[in-house]
Order: sequence, then structure tokens, then C-alpha cells
Amino acid sequence: MERKKVLEITDLNIFFDISLGTVKAVENVSFNLYEGESLGLVGESGCGKTTTALSTMGMLPDNGYLDNGSILYEDKDIAKNSETDWQLYRWNDISMVFQGAMNALNPVKKISFQIAEAILLHNPGMKDDDVRARIVELFKVVGLDEKRVDDYPHEFSGGMRQRVMIAMALACDPKVLIADEPTTALDVMVQAQIIDLINELRGKMHMSMMIITHDLSIISETCDRIAVMYAGNIVEIGSVRSVIKESKHPYTQKLIAAFPNIYGKKTLIESIPGSPPNLLEPPSGCRFHLRCDKAMDVCKREVPVPIDFGNGHFAACHLLGGHHE
Ligand code: SF4
Repeated sequence: MERKKVLEITDLNIFFDISLGTVKAVENVSFNLYEGESLGLVGESGCGKTTTALSTMGMLPDNGYLDNGSILYEDKDIAKNSETDWQLYRWNDISMVFQGAMNALNPVKKISFQIAEAILLHNPGMKDDDVRARIVELFKVVGLDEKRVDDYPHEFSGGMRQRVMIAMALACDPKVLIADEPTTALDVMVQAQIIDLINELRGKMHMSMMIITHDLSIISETCDRIAVMYAGNIVEIGSVRSVIKESKHPYTQKLIAAFPNIYGKKTLIESIPGSPPNLLEPPSGCRFHLRCDKAMDVCKREVPVPIDFGNGHFAACHLLGGHHE
């Protein structure tokens, strides 16, 4: 049975104009998000994963813009949304838990007041009792004690505040939830609890999710599919199992080798030499060629096209296309 696409992103280019020129933050990015699935976007800082997600919320910074591409949400190209369209759609359809947002709660307002604000923004006529009931319901959904709805943020631990942020993002029953580094800055035990919560929400609410992280272990615990980004491009995409167990792209392989495996043999963790390129002047050809130990001449000249390995597993690398030099 064909899976229903909730989001269909095609040939997306997102650029930022700065005083030094134009930063090509995202280029030629295409992927689908299917109903009920969880897709992980992974890569080093600055690879374009958050920028891609922000474009689906119409929340790019003022100097950022779509240079090309479309973002179909339920068959409508939301890339063409006016600000009025975005206001109707943002949080109601696609919602986001921002990185570090748990530290952005207003310290002098009760949690109930802050969640009520999120609810009333999109349901301005809602009665007080109904708003209160919705807050209590959201507290239950995210595993918080409903008796604490009138507490202040400082009375909550980091993990509980992250649950509050997730509750706020769910306030309007979105079809898609994006979580940007949802466990960063939490200790390991609390990270595990937030991962459990994310998995529980998927089961309960049948939402589609996009999880943005640099941490492959979070992807493997929360996602069905994974898109690996490098310097603004998707270099490999497929099911978590096939991408992690049978990675094809040299960058994905390096990324996997850079993570400890507590089940495997004890080996030294490898680091990826060099640093991501300056996207004001991205490298020609394959953007990874300056750091790739398998780079060939063709890699400097030509942009590799994605090769299909079946079952939705694609990777873009000249080696995989049969080039040998
Ligand atoms: Fe390395 Fe070339 Fe493949 Fe890029 S295209 S990952 S440089 S081998």
C-alpha cells in the first residue's frame, strides 16, 4: 500500500544574504515525510538541518529565502504562503520544539499561563474552563503531574521543562511535530525519558515527526528513516536500519565511526578530519571532497547524483556510481 505523503520537499535551495555575499545553506534538497513516520535529519552543525525544518514553518530569518524548490503540505505548496497563510497554518499543522527552548520559558509566569497563551493564540474564542481542561490533558499526554500546572518554570527540572515545551507544541494537535535537538543539555537518564516520551507520542497521536540531531543514537531510537546532511545537501537517505547497518556514503560511514558503540568491540572513536566548508563559497563537485579520503578527480568537478539501492535507500557519491581513478 502506498504511504501517504504529509510533506513533499523538492529541489529546495535556501540562501542567506549577508554582508560578505550569499550563503548557500541548503541546496538541491528533496525528501518526503510520510504519515505517521519519524524521519531523522542528522549531520554536523551548520549542515542545513535546522534551516530545512524552519523553512517548513515559514520561520527563516529575515535575510534567508527560498531560491528554488517547493514544499508541498497535503498537496499545497506552502513555500508560496503569505504571512497570513503561515499564521493560520503554523502550530496548527506543523509545530516545532526549538533547540534549547526549555530555557526560554518566562520565569515569572506560571506554566499554565504560558501554555494557555499558546492555545489561545490559535483558538482565541476558547472558554477559560476549556483552556484549563486542555492544559490538564496536555500535561497528562506528556507525562507531567496535572497538579503542577500552576507551578513556575524554576520549580521544574530540565526534563520537565522540555516536556512542557513538547506540550506547548502539541497544543493545537499538529499533524507534524519537529523536534530540534530535543535531548541536548539533559542528563543521560532524562534523555532516555524524553526519547521514551517521543516514541510514546508517535504511538498515541499518529503524528509525523522530524527529529533534528547530530546524535545518531537518538535517531536510531526514535526514527524510521534517516536523512544524512552534509554542507547543505542530503548525501544519504533510507531506513535507519539500512543506512546505519549498510551505509554507502563515505561521510555517513565517518559519522557512524565517530559514535561509540556500547554493544560492539572496543575500538577507538574516529574523528572526521577537517571542518565543514564555508557555504559562502561551497566546494565544487562533491561538497565533501576536501575531507574525503576516497576523493577522486571527478569529485572536484562533478556533483554526484543519488544512486538508488532499493527500498528507498539513496546515496550520492561518485564511487557508488562506479567511478574509479
Ligand atoms: Fe568522497 Fe568523491 Fe564520494 Fe564525495 S563523491 S564522498 S569526495 S568519493
